[in-house]
Amino acid sequence: MVVGMGGAVPHTVRIHPPRARSALVAPHQQKVSPVNHSRSESPAEIVARLRAAFRTGRTKSLEWRTAQLRGLRDMLTEGGADLAAALHTDLGKPSGEAYRTEIDFTIREIDHTLDHLPAWLAPEAVAVPPVLGPDASAWTQYDPLGVVLVIAPWNYPAGLLLAPMVGALASGNAVVAKPSELAPATSAALARLLPAYLDTEAVAVVEGGIPETTTLLAERFDHVFYTGNGMVGRIVMRAAAEHLTPVTLELGGKSPVFVDRGTDLDVVAERLARGKFLNAGQTCIAPDYVLTDPQTAAALEPALTRAVEDLYGTDPATSGEYGRIVNERHFDRLTGLLGSGRVVVGGSGDRTSRFIAPTVLADVDPTSPVMREEIFGPILPIVTVAGLDEAIDFVNDRDKPLALYVFTESDDTRHRIAAETSSGGLGYGLPVAHVMVLDLPFGGVGESGMGSYHGHHSIETFSHRKAVLAKPLV
Ligand code: NAD
Repeated sequence: MVVGMGGAVPHTVRIHPPRARSALVAPHQQKVSPVNHSRSESPAEIVARLRAAFRTGRTKSLEWRTAQLRGLRDMLTEGGADLAAALHTDLGKPSGEAYRTEIDFTIREIDHTLDHLPAWLAPEAVAVPPVLGPDASAWTQYDPLGVVLVIAPWNYPAGLLLAPMVGALASGNAVVAKPSELAPATSAALARLLPAYLDTEAVAVVEGGIPETTTLLAERFDHVFYTGNGMVGRIVMRAAAEHLTPVTLELGGKSPVFVDRGTDLDVVAERLARGKFLNAGQTCIAPDYVLTDPQTAAALEPALTRAVEDLYGTDPATSGEYGRIVNERHFDRLTGLLGSGRVVVGGSGDRTSRFIAPTVLADVDPTSPVMREEIFGPILPIVTVAGLDEAIDFVNDRDKPLALYVFTESDDTRHRIAAETSSGGLGYGLPVAHVMVLDLPFGGVGESGMGSYHGHHSIETFSHRKAVLAKPLV
């Protein structure tokens, strides 16, 4: 590739981007004897082995990267049913939802990356100041970081391990993947499937809980990508600081919804219910609570009841479209929040099957327990405010959310919310769906996280953008 900069450039400098070399290990050759190396090796040995593979340079070739992405894709198409079954075991996840939100979701991310990777990786020319002479040129090029650790949570335990891995592998890194122990069936399925489709010298799966993750985190990585809660986010960042390792923290928090006066509440309720009760409310960007004026709140209550019944019937426990709470600890935590307001719809639960009905609470005091923590379950409180000014203050008085949603017909309201609040993402008229736009950066700000990924943003996250200046000798 030839880069010439700064108007009339008599000389150009040839850039030789990482030379394409064939992947040394074809992913399908390994299907014969899938081995989860993590069982017999210490974390230090795993990282050393992956670093040695990285040092050979083979992970840098476009061929290796695309082979890994195709391997992942094959894993998802051939092993999709196994993963869907595991997700059902762990979270009662309906099969359609498992495909929509985790399996096909990751396939879309892979296809998008495969389509654009060469263009994303192309060096980018930048202007050179005249003082360096007309024959100088400058550009940036992406270097892989090295060995990357991806730590996933339990709520989308396949998708939130694999989607970051797409970016890490596409960027030419070796990867240690750590699934969540709180979704044990999915963790086991991933530990079995991944080594059968990927280059096992450069990709390892380490299963386990706090002790295993703590031991892993003591190792030197070149990037740590963590998805989960802020308390553990702090532990991850502290451990990474020991090695000056950069981190991406995909955290959570309370994502508010503002419903303006005069909006079509049937549409609002249907979209709110879909976004909130997906995965039984265990979604990091689920609407956490609703802010609206008292009159709108009164009209929204019956609309939400109708929306819940339309989606899950009058007995959601028998619906094939509704998931379960991940474990009894979270079931107990959530049922403890049900007393924070007047039950509009739902309010029931069954500990044995970890079922909690899609629930809407009204007359909720801003200081009540349900408003003091991220709900992360199927409970939607409605908090009343006088109007937009108070809603903006309400949001700004609290931690910066991962997502903020606004239902309004008013451009002025839209502009004010965008200008006067800070959140990881902002959705007008449709909660949760911004995560499906692959070229939008997905991530939080402040307490909801740092860094982002998806699409080409993943290349930024998992690469070093190297600055290069070149001036010919003659
Ligand atoms: P979790 O309990 O599965 O933990 C996440 C990971 O951290 C696991 O792999 C676990 O093994 C590890 N871990 C737990 N305790 C640890 C410790 N003491 N030391 C080292 N590692 C430890 O998941 P979670 O945190 O309960 O997930 C829910 C949270 O994640 C919510 O706050 C949610 O909003 C957030 N979340 C954010 C996103 C996002 O993309 N921003 C996505 C999903 C979930």
